[in-house]
Amino acid sequence: MASSYSPKVGDRLESLDTPSMIVDLDLMEENIKKLMDKLLPTGRNIRPHLKTTKSAVLARKLNAAGAKGGCVAKLSEAEAITEAGFEDLLITCEIIGAPKVKRLVQLYKKHRNIRIVIDSHEGATAIHEALSQEPDLANDPIDVLVDLDVGLRRTGVAPGEPALALARHIGSLKSLHLIGVQGYEGHLQHLHDREDRKKQCLESMKTLVDTVDAFRQAGFDIQVVTTGGTGTAEFCATVPGVTELQPGSFIFMDTDYRNAVGTFYSNSLTILSTVVSKQGDQQVTIDSGLKSLTTDSGLAECKDPRYTYGCLGDEHGSLNWEEGTPSLKVGDRVEMVPSHIDPTINLHDVYYAHRKGVIEEIWKVDSRGKVQ
Ligand code: PLP
Ligand code: MN
Repeated sequence: MASSYSPKVGDRLESLDTPSMIVDLDLMEENIKKLMDKLLPTGRNIRPHLKTTKSAVLARKLNAAGAKGGCVAKLSEAEAITEAGFEDLLITCEIIGAPKVKRLVQLYKKHRNIRIVIDSHEGATAIHEALSQEPDLANDPIDVLVDLDVGLRRTGVAPGEPALALARHIGSLKSLHLIGVQGYEGHLQHLHDREDRKKQCLESMKTLVDTVDAFRQAGFDIQVVTTGGTGTAEFCATVPGVTELQPGSFIFMDTDYRNAVGTFYSNSLTILSTVVSKQGDQQVTIDSGLKSLTTDSGLAECKDPRYTYGCLGDEHGSLNWEEGTPSLKVGDRVEMVPSHIDPTINLHDVYYAHRKGVIEEIWKVDSRGKVQ
């Protein structure tokens, strides 16, 4: 039987059951405006990473505010986001293995505005061979970016001769059209020291633009040079040759990013939770545990800093306070600020977006669970 519970636009937050993922629209819109005001005047294209929001509605809002296109991490995210009506996507993870390559071909047949990254000869050959078996794609090679390792040591071909050899290989395959280079410096996003983050970022950017120069000297027409996240985009935007920035988390932020980049952007998303039990004078239990808030970047924080969160397993968490602080009681509501936004959103089906406590919009997390 379907649940009798169906929150609607116009309802107040008090009517929501918990845990619920809620977004303060005023704060979110301010975050978007701040990012656009900072980065659009630099002339760079903003292609926000939708691995954070997993939402086509939010992709459209970001584009309405000045962004162009979006990134997704995985192929299955691209399937979900295109299905939800947003098509201009860069898939930032490598597409490897026969099942995935087959899915890519099907996706590309339906949506030509998809671009991909490649960091290996094997990956390039497999995608080329699958695409070249499709007669209707004969004149439609897929746009490809070489994924370059600029220090992250996660994916990306090594700079120098290996990168050039990969570019030549891609250039020789007629179903692939080399348009750019991605060099993502993910290892630097959360460095707490701003000067250190900037210095290391500029070193990574040098590796990126030097590689682009080498590609151009070898005759490749490189149009797109894409990089950057919430922690580094402002530095990347100062580097001549960088054309595109991929920040994601800034729209909602989390405690880990707040500790790294400060409070320029606000925490606009919280997990609304209910006190379900009282445990002594200075502790209550809330209904948000590991299934509502991830812990990989430390524990979530209560929006009211007087109450300290502790994890009590899958379904529960504790809130403690010092003597003299007003007690929480059974039935009270609290808002929890996630420590790492992207995997926390992946735990929830919908966003309830409110303005001053009234629900204004309800958005599906379109690519929730799309990890393939
Ligand atoms: N680009 C790539 C390739 C990423 O993997 C990520 C995040 O992991 C981002 C951009 C966005 O970074 P952030 O959410 O830190 O802004
Ligand atoms: Mn993240």
